[in-house]
Amino acid sequence: MRIVIKLGTSTLAHKTGRINILRVEELCKVMSDLKNAGHEIILVSSGAIGMGVGKLSLQGRPTDIPTKQAAAAVGQCELMYIYDKLFSEYNHTVAQILITDDDIANTDRRQNFENTMRRLLELGVIPILNENDSIATNEIVIGDNDTLGAIVATTVQADLLIILSDINGLYTADPHKNPGAVLLDRVEKITPEIEQMTGGAGSALGTGGMATKLKAAKIAVAAGTDMVIANGNNPKSLYDIVEGKNVGTRFFAEKVK
Ligand code: GLU
Repeated sequence: MRIVIKLGTSTLAHKTGRINILRVEELCKVMSDLKNAGHEIILVSSGAIGMGVGKLSLQGRPTDIPTKQAAAAVGQCELMYIYDKLFSEYNHTVAQILITDDDIANTDRRQNFENTMRRLLELGVIPILNENDSIATNEIVIGDNDTLGAIVATTVQADLLIILSDINGLYTADPHKNPGAVLLDRVEKITPEIEQMTGGAGSALGTGGMATKLKAAKIAVAAGTDMVIANGNNPKSLYDIVEGKNVGTRFFAEKVK
């Protein structure tokens, strides 16, 4: 299977913005193993801004654009250093691709992006993508990596998009506010009732939230890609997700690719 895995900041970093070493080590180990088992793995990783905040010892996520962009530049380096180191331990090669909405909107650039992705996969590389936060401003920003994950999944015609975050999946209501909220394990069709179940923002260091995840699900299923939202706190659950077992919420593709 060709699998796109999106890792949110809350999965990769502690609340301080510093890397969650055990978690990231385990994730890289499981992803390497899935690749060894014959799957193609593409990573969409957040955490650049969050880790920049940690490394620069800033007081929290910056609100002004230059500091955010500077934090992303520092944190992206740190992120790729860690991925390169950990995947190398299992003999896998990684590549970094940073894009903005402009690159997707422009036909030539989108084609170049597609060609590069295809070639990287043929070469057996694990592409790691993020938004190019250091140059993206409001006008050209994709804005969140859930959407980026869906764009990447449709570009490479992935079989499965997995979004790992600090929530177990889609609930009938916000579980932080409503203790009676029930986790939905399957969504066959994204109806207006399903859309009403989202709301609320993401974590303190990342963007996202359930609304962007649902937006991503719509893009993915329309293009023939299943999508799973699951909690990133247990990296081994990736095995179960890939085997099609019930973990988190699975959105089923509307059409066969
Ligand atoms: N691109 C941002 C980063 O790497 C994260 C965006 C998101 O959290 O969705 O920090």
